[in-house]
Amino acid sequence: MATYFSRVTAFDGRKVREKVGVLVSGGTIQWVGAHARAPRDARSAEEVEGGGRTLTPGLIDCHVHLCFDGGPDFVAEAAVTEPYAAVKCVGNAARQLAAGVTTVRDLGGLGAVVCDVGRAIADGRTPGPRVVASGQALTITGGHGWNSFARQTDGPDGVRLAVREQVRSGARSIKIVATGGVLTPGIAVDFTAFTPEEVDAAVDEAHKWGVPIAAHAIGRTGIANCVRAGIDSIEHGSQIDASIARDMKERGVFHVPTISALAGIVGHPEDVPAFAVEKGKQIMDMARDAFGRAVRAGLRHACGTDAGTPHNPHGSAPREIVRMVEWGLSPLKALQAATAGGADLLRVPEVGTIEEGKAADLVLWSGHPVEDVAALLKPSLVMKEGEVFPG
Ligand SMILES: [Zn+2]
Repeated sequence: MATYFSRVTAFDGRKVREKVGVLVSGGTIQWVGAHARAPRDARSAEEVEGGGRTLTPGLIDCHVHLCFDGGPDFVAEAAVTEPYAAVKCVGNAARQLAAGVTTVRDLGGLGAVVCDVGRAIADGRTPGPRVVASGQALTITGGHGWNSFARQTDGPDGVRLAVREQVRSGARSIKIVATGGVLTPGIAVDFTAFTPEEVDAAVDEAHKWGVPIAAHAIGRTGIANCVRAGIDSIEHGSQIDASIARDMKERGVFHVPTISALAGIVGHPEDVPAFAVEKGKQIMDMARDAFGRAVRAGLRHACGTDAGTPHNPHGSAPREIVRMVEWGLSPLKALQAATAGGADLLRVPEVGTIEEGKAADLVLWSGHPVEDVAALLKPSLVMKEGEVFPG
């Protein structure tokens, strides 16, 4: 069944065009152009009247944790069996799709659960976005995440082994925990975890397999070690200073600020564990300053919510876009971060833009999200591979 979006305002992943027609069939985008020059095939397709509405590529969230629902206690949420976690993933994947998110990268869960759930989604067994899974995140013994989403590993050889295990399980991304973090008790946020040799080994091994590698990195030294090693993205990056920002710009390293994670923790002292609220407060202002520096340095940003962390439910990419704009990114760049930028970072070239031959992952919004990003909070139609969800 073919679908034709007529007279729509289109943000194609890079720029905005008016009165566009987009023809979809067989799960891919067949034609894009001026509606006035629509091809003959458009007439026999089912028409979706796009006047006054905006069509964008499906959103890409580059940082989620599908095994976690966003309950107040992250560590407690991890205390389930892998089959139970898989059931949580299924529900959370559907929530992502309902919000207009058609691709996610998972940055750490229980065992290989997310790799397998991603496979089940790709096989059509359950609805959800495309999943670029990382398996378990890699952390040092006793490091951030050891008791929730990460596998402990030490030494360059150990790190290589752990990367290979994730890839064997189906991971198409690797995540290392380079510094301390907010949600693990007893470890400072700016603690430097892996040694430079360990980081080098992880980056080299991931790239050998052709997959991108992300670093959870809050403290300055940990961030610098990762940038020097050739990491693809710095997640959080609360202590990015001016010289690191220059290095990141030069090397094309993405910054994924995950503002929603901090907002969810700091905004809910009533039920989030006190140690996490305290650490979140320590870095909130720092994170905002670092984001400003990153924007001024012209870094590429990708949208990542850290969904699954406290009070940060799945499907929050639109909210993260709004927050990036509130913190100083232009609406156009924030939308690029959640579409074409994310596809580049994740090495998924078939998504992220509205172009002929790309997957028909598309979202229709009322109004004009480039002029008013709040329009993203409620999609009016979500399509993945040419099929409307919910069907
Ligand atoms: Zn995370």
